[in-house]
Amino acid sequence: MERSERLTYEEISQIELTGLHILRRTSIEAVFGLLEHCTVQFLASGAILLEQGQTNSTMYLVLAGKLSVHLDKPDAEPVAYLETGQTVGEISVIDASPATAYVKASELTRLLAIDEMTFWRLVEVSHEFATNMLLLLAGRLRANNTKIIENINLRMQMEHEASVDALTALRNRRWLDTNLPRMTSRHQYSKKPFCVLMLDVDHFKNFNDEYGHAAGDVVLAEVARVIMAKLRPTDLAARYGGEEFCIMLPDTNLEGGVVAANRIREAVSGTKVISPDGQPLPQVTISLGVSCVQDKDTPESLIGRADERLYRAKKNGRNRVES
Ligand code: GH3
Ligand code: MG
Ligand code: MG
Repeated sequence: MERSERLTYEEISQIELTGLHILRRTSIEAVFGLLEHCTVQFLASGAILLEQGQTNSTMYLVLAGKLSVHLDKPDAEPVAYLETGQTVGEISVIDASPATAYVKASELTRLLAIDEMTFWRLVEVSHEFATNMLLLLAGRLRANNTKIIENINLRMQMEHEASVDALTALRNRRWLDTNLPRMTSRHQYSKKPFCVLMLDVDHFKNFNDEYGHAAGDVVLAEVARVIMAKLRPTDLAARYGGEEFCIMLPDTNLEGGVVAANRIREAVSGTKVISPDGQPLPQVTISLGVSCVQDKDTPESLIGRADERLYRAKKNGRNRVES
């Protein structure tokens, strides 16, 4: 909806007085002659002012009301609101690029439409207008930089959460599935030994049944802590699932793997754990299977062999290591 209307001298003086915006400190005498010819438009609530991708050569100054900015779809969640004194469309005017978002009236809104020619005339005749535009663009840049930094931090946090197991703080199964293939082939290529330990808590179902799931969770977190404490800085550990863990020992042969496995096994069986309600819990034991990478191994066959040996450790009495 557009109604041709002209701005009065008084109104332009008013705009100049309303806070931080493009007419601040401009000499009304200098700009009135130009602004006087700009049209004033009315947008009904919900009406679209700009469509993403459309060419635009007008800067709009909100005189009254409120606009909302939407990415991708006009009915998407608004990413920003523009209120009295704020402007939209100026970047398209400056660099002749299409609009980058949908802009919609979120209530009845009155706008001053400053066309391209008038815009550049204002820049020419008013040093203050040009300075205000620079300040406005600098503000947008800063806001964008802040957004970018926030997004990078958010992405890093999400990547971290996507690869770390919440209960034990070890790497999770997803991380293992992504990284074990690379570790396996790297060691095959370099002809360096690479050992994998599969670890499973003994009779853990009984433990949960007897002491509760919460106590079981504390035990799992404690087992993970012991694992990390007994590894070298270059070793890696992941929660494979449930009460099973996978430990990767780069540049370690089968003998070294067995030594490390027994070191962890002894440490776990000697660890005292307190339940969430403060009660001392009986010590748990673990069983481990060890395998070392061979030329023809895939990540699955490497894990599979460690798993078979883990199964043998269970069959042979638990709280032991098989290789
Ligand atoms: P085994 O010595 O043969 O390994 O016996 P097990 O009872 O440990 O083996 P089983 O695979 O039958 O049971 C595993 C149990 O681990 C089942 C479940 O109660 C428990 N468990 C799996 N994930 C979690 C978890 O995240 N928290 C807790 N508290 N318990 C878990
Ligand atoms: Mg199990
Ligand atoms: Mg078990």
